[in-house]
Amino acid sequence: MTGRVSAVKPVIIISADWREEAGGAIELGNWYVSAVIQAGGIPLAAPPSEDFDDFESAASDILSAGSALLLSGGPDVDPCFFGQGPHRRLGRVNPVRDQLEMALARHALKRGIPVLGICRGMQLLNVAAGGGLVQDIQSSMPKALCHFVQAPRAYPTHWVTVVPGSMLHRILGHDRIRVNSFHHQACSPLAPGFVQAARADDGVVEAIELQPGQGPSHFALGVQWHPECMFRKFPLFLRLFEALVKAAQGGMP
Ligand code: MN
Repeated sequence: MTGRVSAVKPVIIISADWREEAGGAIELGNWYVSAVIQAGGIPLAAPPSEDFDDFESAASDILSAGSALLLSGGPDVDPCFFGQGPHRRLGRVNPVRDQLEMALARHALKRGIPVLGICRGMQLLNVAAGGGLVQDIQSSMPKALCHFVQAPRAYPTHWVTVVPGSMLHRILGHDRIRVNSFHHQACSPLAPGFVQAARADDGVVEAIELQPGQGPSHFALGVQWHPECMFRKFPLFLRLFEALVKAAQGGMP
């Protein structure tokens, strides 16, 4: 060890997808990789596998290889993990990925490892911490906005109100932002210990974060939009990844 530990870039574990129907490929969008690098971290992909005998110990070992966890976007969380059967408009599920990510999220929360969940990753974080999901926004909330917009990935399509006093508000420094939207599910109810950090104008939860003051201060944030697709056009969104990297180095926003 030298005395220059702070100069070492932190390794950020990014959960990846496993697509049996795509020739068994492990997939991770380059957006996440780029965002972590641009924010000053070193990305390390963590693939799900049926060969893990025990997801709990696999998750624990994987987390030991990094300083923070980024839960990436992807398919729907299997509703069995929040006590429901499959809604008729449920999308693709991958319970293998769910099990590894749930274990990663729970271990990160327990060990105080910083975690950022994006889209599915936020929903997964909520479920792992004991919350639930609306399986299909259009079915459950007929007056909701369109949250699965056919548009270029970087293009913002709806407004979000950021809760004043939240960690997210400290990171972004704005009361109202416009975000992209590629989800048909939403967090509800929120997990114990988590609070809403942003909402769309129709009431859909657009960000959650761990409530402060419950044990040691700890970075656990989820956003429903895709900042990794927006940060090149709108540098504001790189702040989310910079906050994760800073938290990986022991700093809190
Ligand atoms: Mn949305």
